[in-house]
Parts: sequence; structure tokens; C-alpha cells
Amino acid sequence: MTDLLIRNAALVATVDAERRELRGGWVAITDGLISGVGSSLDPEPVADRLIDADGCLVTPGLVNTHHHLFQNLTRAYSPMTSAPLFGWLQSLYPLWTAAIDEEAEYLAAWVGLAELAMSGCTTSSDHHYLHPVRAGDLLGAEVRAAADLGMRFHPTYASMSLGESKGGLPPDDAVRDEDDILAESQRAVEHHHDPSHGSMLQVALAPCSPFTVSTDLMIRSAELAERLDVRLHTHLAENAQDDEFAIATFGMRPVDYFEHCGWMSSRAWGAHVVMPDPGEIARLGAAGVGVAHCPSSNMILASGIAPVVALRRAGCPVGLGCDGSSSADSASLWQEARLSMLQGKLTSGAGAMDARTVLEISTRGGAGCLGREGELGELSVGAVGDVAVWKLDGPIFAGVLDDLIEGWLRTGPHAAWHTIVGGTAVVESGLLVAPDLDEKLAAHAAAARRFQPAV
Ligand SMILES: [Zn+2]
Repeated sequence: MTDLLIRNAALVATVDAERRELRGGWVAITDGLISGVGSSLDPEPVADRLIDADGCLVTPGLVNTHHHLFQNLTRAYSPMTSAPLFGWLQSLYPLWTAAIDEEAEYLAAWVGLAELAMSGCTTSSDHHYLHPVRAGDLLGAEVRAAADLGMRFHPTYASMSLGESKGGLPPDDAVRDEDDILAESQRAVEHHHDPSHGSMLQVALAPCSPFTVSTDLMIRSAELAERLDVRLHTHLAENAQDDEFAIATFGMRPVDYFEHCGWMSSRAWGAHVVMPDPGEIARLGAAGVGVAHCPSSNMILASGIAPVVALRRAGCPVGLGCDGSSSADSASLWQEARLSMLQGKLTSGAGAMDARTVLEISTRGGAGCLGREGELGELSVGAVGDVAVWKLDGPIFAGVLDDLIEGWLRTGPHAAWHTIVGGTAVVESGLLVAPDLDEKLAAHAAAARRFQPAV
């Protein structure tokens, strides 16, 4: 017996290997996995539960490949909104380091993942690089939040080891000893990582950036990831300051440094990747390095526009990232998708980035970054039962008759009507299923006040 049948959709965009688009389509989910997909011409299975998707576009759940969930505790914090990357970070590091604890991390993750779910996201990564010794088990706190909401989660044990006294960017009390970092990374994998098909939680290792960790930690993290068979993530070639730092400190550009540290492999995905030159793009593509494209953050910090069209053409899996909510500051993957389309058209030509391409980036591309091709980001038998149902009506959608996928991204803003993770609704009829949103928001506001002394 099928557990859940989503039926009668205006269109099911499967984003499967054939990119099938099924009018009047349906999606069946059994034991957390997709057990059938069809059009109005195909016989539907009998199911325990039904969702009527009349008038709706049904897509795979969107995949978020880069985030710093804790940053929603300093969202749009006015004293910090006008500096480029390095100044912005140096202003915020002390506030974050002083106030972060397990309770704040849990609330930030719960609220941030709820926000993502409401934008159709079903899987999110998180790059949590702040681990002051006194703060407790912050990765464990965000793992609890994801489980409480029912979101599929890819946290990373991220790290900073290069304090100001050693030439790094963060203050010394924000960084950790490198042997501790590697031991904690291994512990996080052993406690939380589930490599099985359909896994709800996978852990990656994630030294933060060239300007916050040593070369030795980059190399040892890559070796540990290989040994534990988990993925690797870091910030890569984010802006001109990042380029200048790498050249001045290591005598090479960020992509050369990435390769020097043993990271040029399909096990790794980098965040931002705004600055690679054509030769570097070709090398990243040949190695199959994934790219988390973060258009909002790259514009707010004036970092630049990532060469997404060229990176995809070179062979990089490219996914979307909302990035941290102190630099983005929204965490709507639909919005990142729309910005990705607009940036792609502006930089590469009107025909170079259409809504279907961006839907693919938002789903299959994200799965590629997380090393879960064929398992996430598509509606095909055997893939996870992660589905976004988008209601396409009201004044914003009036007049769209011909192409519902183009209409979905060119009108808006849109939020998900239903967000289903592994066959279970996290968002239903536009509302979060978890019953305690108001209480969580009040507690989050109290925690945020501890982070923002000027308020
Ligand atoms: Zn980031």
C-alpha cells in the first residue's frame, strides 16, 4: 500500500533523467521513498493518504547547499550592513563568539530550517564554523532542531583555527586547536552520519576558509574525509579580498591553493566560487568539484556574480545556497532560484539561464554537491520522497497559461503550499506543521537580543 499519493497536479516537473513533465501528474511515496510517478493517463496506486494538487506545480524538494544557520541571530543587524566580506566578518565574530551556546544554536537552526521549508526546501546543509570551547555541542543542537522539524539535514563540522595572532581573520577566542577540531570532526561523523540510501542526516568536514584555518588543517581535513568517506566543504574564491589574501599569504590564487591542499576532487564542494578565471573553471569542472551558488549574499556583500553558466558547462555540479542570514539575509530558496535566473540572463544572455535550468540547479545540482545524485533532487522511483507543491494562483500568477515552470520563477514571490520530506509534511497548506512556531520565535527573539548589543 502506498503511504502518500500527491495527485491531480497541473504539472509534475520530475527533473528526472529524461526531465519528464507530466500534465495531470501524480507522485506516490512509500516508506519514505518515491514508489511511482505518472501522468493522468497512468493508473494511480491506492494510498493511505491523498494530497489533491489541483492547480499546482509539483517539483522535487529544493536543496540548500550552503548556510550558516546561527547567523539569523544577527540578521540585518544595522551596524554591520555596509562592509565587504572581511570587515563584515571582523565586526561580527566577537558578537557571535560571546553569545553562542547550545540553546541559541538550536533556536537558530529550528527557525532557519522552518523558513527554508516554507520556501520549498527539503534538504539543507549547514556550515557551522563557530565552536568556542565553552559553547557545548553546537552541532548536536542543530541536529536536534532538524530532527524535531523533520528536515533532511547535512550539517558540517566546520572549523576555524587561525586567530588574529597567527595572521588569520577571527579573534583568538573564536578558534580551536587543530587536533581538537579533527577529533571533534571524527566524533560528529561517528555519532551522526548515516550513509545509507534515504538517509536523513549526513555530516561533512568543513574548514571555514583560507583566511581562518592553516594549510595543515586543510590537508589533514581532506585526508580525514577520505578515511571516513564523507564530503568536504569550504568557502572558495569568494571575492577580491579572498584572492588577495591567498596570493599574499600562500603565493597562489585560491583555486591553486585548494588543489595544493588536496581538495581538487568530486568529494568537495565550495561555496560562492565567484572569482575563478577560465582556466580555473576548466580545472574545477574536470575534477567534478561542486559549487554552492549564493546569489543574494554575493550581491549584498558586493562580492560579484559567480560564473554559473561556465561552471556548469565545465562539468561542476552547481547547487543553490542561501548563505548565512547575516549576509543574505533571507533564507528563501525560491528567491535564490529567481536571482540565479536573473543573474544568469544578465551575465550570459537572456537564453542562457531559463527557469528549467534553475529548477535543475535547485534540485539535481544540489544533490550533486551533496554527493547524492539520483537519490535527492528528482522525482523518480527509488529517490527520496521529498516534494514541493506550489500553488499557482492569485494576482501574481494571473495570465500564465502556457509554461507553468517559467511562470513559477518569473512571477512571484512564491512560497511552498506543501513541503513533504520523506513522505511526511513539514509544511501543509502554507503553514508549518510543527505546532510551536510562536513560542520558538519568541525564544529566538530573546536569544537574538543577547547577540545584538546595540539594540
Ligand atoms: Zn558562507
